[in-house]
Amino acid sequence: MAGSELTEATGVKTACIQSVACAPLSGESPKGGWSNEIRPEDSVHTLIAVHTDIGVTGYGSVFTSGELARAGLAVLEPLFAGENALEPARVSEKLHQNSFWMGRGGTLTHVISGVDIALWDILGKVAGLSVATLLGGRHVERVRPYCSLLMDEPAAMRDVLAQYKAQGYRAFKIGWGPFGRRDDPALDEAIVRIARDEIGDDAALMVDPGGSDAFWPNGLKWALRTADMLAGYSVAWFEEALKPDDLEGFQILRRQSPVPISGGEVLTRRQSFMPFLRDGAFDIVQPDVTKVGGISEQKRIYELAETFGVQYVGHGWNTALGLAADLQMAAAFPNTDYVEYIGGSAYVDGILAAPFALDNEGYLPIPNKPGLGVQLDRERVAKVTRDVDVLRLT
Ligand SMILES: [Mg+2]
Repeated sequence: MAGSELTEATGVKTACIQSVACAPLSGESPKGGWSNEIRPEDSVHTLIAVHTDIGVTGYGSVFTSGELARAGLAVLEPLFAGENALEPARVSEKLHQNSFWMGRGGTLTHVISGVDIALWDILGKVAGLSVATLLGGRHVERVRPYCSLLMDEPAAMRDVLAQYKAQGYRAFKIGWGPFGRRDDPALDEAIVRIARDEIGDDAALMVDPGGSDAFWPNGLKWALRTADMLAGYSVAWFEEALKPDDLEGFQILRRQSPVPISGGEVLTRRQSFMPFLRDGAFDIVQPDVTKVGGISEQKRIYELAETFGVQYVGHGWNTALGLAADLQMAAAFPNTDYVEYIGGSAYVDGILAAPFALDNEGYLPIPNKPGLGVQLDRERVAKVTRDVDVLRLT
């Protein structure tokens, strides 16, 4: 492709991709609640930078390790080199279509997600419009974040919840940890009871046992019994109560559960979501923009969900850029009630020039600046990656 061209009428028409770089985050990786727990030095989230020949760089985020991100970019490089960064959906689809045989749905789909987010960021910066505007328009200017916290012994839970409640959150998801893993329904209920008691009756409470954990021990009968218990505490949704691929189990659970059923955070590609949406497996679907294929693919998944009457809540919580993408989509996708916000993560709260801040009603304002509308801070990012230079932050 030729270099960038300018026309008098519309300004920049092309911005050719010169290179795509990645910066693995490590040193402060937050716990996931996994049975094989993440250590702070582990690399599980990676920032992506797409550099163009017009001097505009876009940023994205991938839920995977730096090693896998690097390897994925090396495989994809001949496909994106020289491409027009102002055409995110087409370029991302080109990457998907030409890499099916190399790991469809896995690492390559995760890596394409970060590239796609960065391409939308570039398009917005060049157009002078927010990503939400480019997606079709901004229905809202703020959205409620739910504070996502790991479960713990009941007494410890109370202290953590109190700390975040004091920061202004009005919705809380408690997940993983001991819940469902000790064969102790009384402990499970004690955790939920103390959470509801601490946050009060007017705050939203969601429960996520984490059925995508390795060797998740529970099945449908446990999920049904637990759903009945959760109904007594007005739980807003019961997330990943089963192993993530258990389509039939989720269908039965959704029909019989008194509380809404959610899932989908580990699925990638719209095709994988289709049976769950079409066949009534979820009340709420939670695609992760840093895994599914990026903003281009998440838009398609949202539209499928909306068509089948399934609520959408984004799951891109893992870095400030994932959250920034979720915020733009929350503006553009009608009836998006929440975004996930992990409490206390250095990768969310510690890498922006102007960190996210709740308003006095517990909502997050949705940036209305070009692109994702957020700016990485070089010094702050340098604290959580050895590769800050490749991002070309100023
Ligand atoms: Mg979850």
